[in-house]
Amino acid sequence: MALPARSPALIVGGGPAGAAAAIALARAGHKPRLLERTTGPHDTVCGAFVGWDSVAALRRLGIDPFALGAHPIHRLRLYGSGHEVETRLPRTAAGLSRRCLDETLLDAARAAGAYVDRGRSVRAADPGRRTVRTDDGEEIGADALLLATGKHELRGAPRPRDTSRDPVGLRTALSPSKTLDAILDGVIELHLFDGGYAGLLLQEDGCANLCLSVARWRLKRAGGIPNLVRDLGAELPGLRARLAESEPVAWSAVSGVPYGWYARGTEPGLYRLGDQGGVIASLAGDGIAIALESAAEAAAALLAGRTSDAYQDRLGRRVAFPLLAAEGLRWAAERPVPRDLLMRLVGTFPSLPRVAARLTRVGG
Ligand SMILES: Cc1cc2nc3c(=O)[nH]c(=O)nc-3n(C[C@H](O)[C@H](O)[C@H](O)COP(=O)(O)OP(=O)(O)OC[C@H]3O[C@@H](n4cnc5c(N)ncnc54)[C@H](O)[C@@H]3O)c2cc1C
Repeated sequence: MALPARSPALIVGGGPAGAAAAIALARAGHKPRLLERTTGPHDTVCGAFVGWDSVAALRRLGIDPFALGAHPIHRLRLYGSGHEVETRLPRTAAGLSRRCLDETLLDAARAAGAYVDRGRSVRAADPGRRTVRTDDGEEIGADALLLATGKHELRGAPRPRDTSRDPVGLRTALSPSKTLDAILDGVIELHLFDGGYAGLLLQEDGCANLCLSVARWRLKRAGGIPNLVRDLGAELPGLRARLAESEPVAWSAVSGVPYGWYARGTEPGLYRLGDQGGVIASLAGDGIAIALESAAEAAAALLAGRTSDAYQDRLGRRVAFPLLAAEGLRWAAERPVPRDLLMRLVGTFPSLPRVAARLTRVGG
């Protein structure tokens, strides 16, 4: 396909935010161009929990996670400070690997008419000129730049935050096991510990996705991932029992996750989507929904001719409270005394997680 020298909308990053924006713009008759650095299906550091808001947003895009084989999740099982509590979720969520979700979205973007450029890594952006430079030296200009690089900073347009003290995200898969199937049937488990949490659920390929958010001090004190897993196993009998069923294969990591940050403004023509627009504590399990919602908002703003500033301001107002509420939960879950209190409260009032879920949702 011959590409115009200047794109009306150039999307950098093909995760849920970038791909969903490409779908919305392409379906409205635009020809967005999306640059994604990976060449094919890949896993990413994520808990694979597709919450009910994400399920609804995906359905609006014509994608049904359950038709893709997603594992239905109805209940939350919480472990922490020696307590175990199980409670119903407000609505059915889905366990779906990011490998499957991201590819499905990119396929839908392509089918809608977006130009999806795989294996193209953007090295730097110049928001003032609305151009990006790829790692093979091409300069691409656009009327609107949609920044959707997620957890990764882009030179020239970084998120203004010192992330050196922010937590590390870790993810692995546990190979299929009949015992894990029985334990995790219909459930997401959260194992809370000092400095972080581990989330565990079944996904469409039969593997269990194990994802951790860990404070740097905790990882440093353990001296690496294998030691951290060993320490957590000793501390958390529930997690130890899961790990005894199936060894983690390979870990992927992302450092400096700026939980609680959101963009307070932007430059003309630069739309920050998904994690580049706001980062919710992953404990709340709503990052994918924010990515999808911000994509829909950015596309609507572009189509209506609203400025990037108006879009970013509106998104900021939508995410500010859920991010704050999620930070409060994270703060309590990571510390022994508040965690103990939290677990006792949830034990006494099992509807509390549903209230917390409402407070931390951006909604559709
Ligand atoms: C530990 C952890 C657990 C989480 N668990 C959950 C969960 O269970 N449920 C949930 O809803 N949310 C969860 N989240 C949050 C969720 O992962 C993010 O909010 C979501 O992925 C954001 O989507 P995105 O499209 O903005 O970015 P991403 O998903 O990060 O996608 C960004 C894309 O951009 C591409 N890219 C990056 N840089 C470049 C570049 N320079 N050039 C070209 N392409 C580039 C990447 O390859 C990637 O495909 C979790 C986060 C963490 C850290």
